[in-house]
Amino acid sequence: MNAPVRSAKLIKGATGDWEVVVGIEVHAQVTSNAKLFSGASTVFGGEPNAHVSLVDAAMPGMLPVINEECVRQAVRTGLGLKAQINLRSVFDRKNYFYPDLPQGYQISQYKSPIVGEGEVIVDLADGTSFTVGIERLHLEQDAGKSLHDQHPSMSFVDLNRSGVALMEIVSKPDLRSADEARAYVTKLRTILRYLGTCDGDMEKGNLRADVNVSVRKPGQPLGTRCEIKNVNSIRFIGQAIETEARRQIGILEDGGRIDQETRLFDPVKGETRSMRSKEEAHDYRYFPDPDLLPLEFDQAFVDGLKGHLPELPDEKKARFIKELGLTAYDASVLVSERESADFFEQVLAMDGGGRRDGKLAANWVINELFGRLNKEGRDIAASPVSAGQLGAIVDLIGEGVISGKIAKDLFEIVWSEGGDPRAIVESRGMKQVTDLSAIEKVVDDIVAANPDKVAQAKAKPTMIGWFVGQVMKSSGGKANPQAVNDLLKAKLGL
Ligand code: MN
Repeated sequence: MNAPVRSAKLIKGATGDWEVVVGIEVHAQVTSNAKLFSGASTVFGGEPNAHVSLVDAAMPGMLPVINEECVRQAVRTGLGLKAQINLRSVFDRKNYFYPDLPQGYQISQYKSPIVGEGEVIVDLADGTSFTVGIERLHLEQDAGKSLHDQHPSMSFVDLNRSGVALMEIVSKPDLRSADEARAYVTKLRTILRYLGTCDGDMEKGNLRADVNVSVRKPGQPLGTRCEIKNVNSIRFIGQAIETEARRQIGILEDGGRIDQETRLFDPVKGETRSMRSKEEAHDYRYFPDPDLLPLEFDQAFVDGLKGHLPELPDEKKARFIKELGLTAYDASVLVSERESADFFEQVLAMDGGGRRDGKLAANWVINELFGRLNKEGRDIAASPVSAGQLGAIVDLIGEGVISGKIAKDLFEIVWSEGGDPRAIVESRGMKQVTDLSAIEKVVDDIVAANPDKVAQAKAKPTMIGWFVGQVMKSSGGKANPQAVNDLLKAKLGL
């Protein structure tokens, strides 16, 4: 964890270097049809208070009943985080008043969470990886939402979200920079999406982060931390950490001290500001919820879920490197979204069974397809070129029917007009010329027309590149480059 390569991310202050220490609590909405303790729908975007059961509205005498699907999702997530699964956990009441919390308490897990310690392997843009410890994952209810902008003198409450299941995933304070924090949340979200346990949609608030930030001189004990609440985009997480670290360094270098508190990040002003002084756990008067028995299941339940987990990004990446010979970077790009990895694997798979060349397929998916999709701001689901069409283009290159250059033209045609790549090559005469006599004629013409260049090439063999270029140009890019090279070497006596 403290490898030298990671200690270089220090922040320069007036009194020397500072290290920023970050831990993150992610609230991830569990993917399930119903809420954690009621049968009300979790569908997003309904009319206010359209998805509220008597339990969610905290009517007197209503009893919560645990939704087994949410339990399964939490266990699956724990398994994906390589974490300890606790066969016995306890739901507690976390008491506080808020207008959008009709119960007057949140049902959460305090001393006995459903999932214990685990880890996430985080990949940085430079191709290196590091491990972030997971402290715990617990299940809890979401609150409703207060609406202050609907009426000049009244606030309204929408309880659609009240009681929706959240997984609070708490990291250890293992992150040392804004970049690492962004990469961690990105990777965590990828794992949740692969598992199908949270859609990771930050715009809808389905994944939000509370970011704990402190600073210290390298080698010193941990400083006092501030918690920046409910940061709702990965970019803002990075900005909030940088802003907060600089604020704390400024205070400490002026001889002040940091008060532990909860702060909000304002992305417009680029500052964090105090929300409330940090409450302690005892302020919430946690106690086991008397309406709920401890949550118990056996190892067979866990093993059953384990047996049906999808292949996760780290395993998929390792397989792409080992079996297909891809670089770590290419493999990371392909596995970063489950949809991209699935698409790539469809490009690889040949109709009658068998597998296409991994490196060639990866190159076409990453450089041509992703490049083009990025340029047009589309995602893979909206790709006009299907995996089957891209596979056919890869085949045509592999078979030597078209050159790489012609393949790019073909890709453009398929992108804008659709169609069967093989039929397009046939009907538009795009086939590569491998007929040696046809190529030889072109080579002879160019050699005959350029006696000065021929003389130069004899002295400087790299001049052959100029001839190759001329031949390719006059064949409309259709001459087989290897054949052209071989013929030119023979004709020029190189
Ligand atoms: Mn929480």
